Amino acid sequence: MSGNLFVVATPIGNMEDITLRALKTLKSVDYVLAESPHHSRRLFERYSIETKLIKFNDDYDVRDVLEKALGDLLAGLNIALISDAGTPTISDPGFRIVRACREKGIKVVPIPGPSALIAALSASGVPTDRFVFLGFLPKGSNKKKKLLKEADIGGTVVLYESPNRVVKTLDAVREALGERFVVVARELTKIHEEFISGHVSEVLEKLLKRPSLKGEFVILIEKDV
Ligand code: SAM
Repeated sequence: MSGNLFVVATPIGNMEDITLRALKTLKSVDYVLAESPHHSRRLFERYSIETKLIKFNDDYDVRDVLEKALGDLLAGLNIALISDAGTPTISDPGFRIVRACREKGIKVVPIPGPSALIAALSASGVPTDRFVFLGFLPKGSNKKKKLLKEADIGGTVVLYESPNRVVKTLDAVREALGERFVVVARELTKIHEEFISGHVSEVLEKLLKRPSLKGEFVILIEKDV
């Protein structure tokens, strides 16, 4: 009988945000596929996880790892998949192995936990009954604006963004959708966690006043009211 691929969520900042089931799984599998083993070692040391970490992402150059993992799963081994932070496959590597497992009838088991998307939404104060997640917008103002307009279907629009592109992206939001109410969630679960909210221009003004922008960002755009 084939083994299981466990898709395990890990913390997005605060190291205590990991479930008992995730720890149990990471300790008991035959090995762990990790986006960057070096990054995950800190988590493993903190929780005394001694399972072997093997580098895996969706790049072409680790195709052999995918083939080996599929062979091992078919031979009955259990494997966990983790990314650097949060839930694997959500704007993170892993989709290819999950799909390959499903195609081969290998059981894929989610071990749910943190995701910046859900953490930001849950504490944002913007409507969460319907939302569109766009992940990272493509580069280029026109492409950004086109996608934003397409996603504006009467729910909250959620984006991931890096500190060096957050201002450009908010500019694109203003141009594509006008003066919407937005919430920028920064450094969730970390010491400098904050939620900056207001109409796009107000939020841009607050961000541009800062000497530098650091950390990780989720942008939430409220539907037109
Ligand atoms: N798989 C992850 C998840 O489930 O949230 C997302 C990985 S994606 C490569 C990284 C992006 O997620 C960051 O650029 C940022 O937009 C968002 N993110 C991750 N951690 C965050 C945090 N602690 N606070 C705010 N945003 C975060």
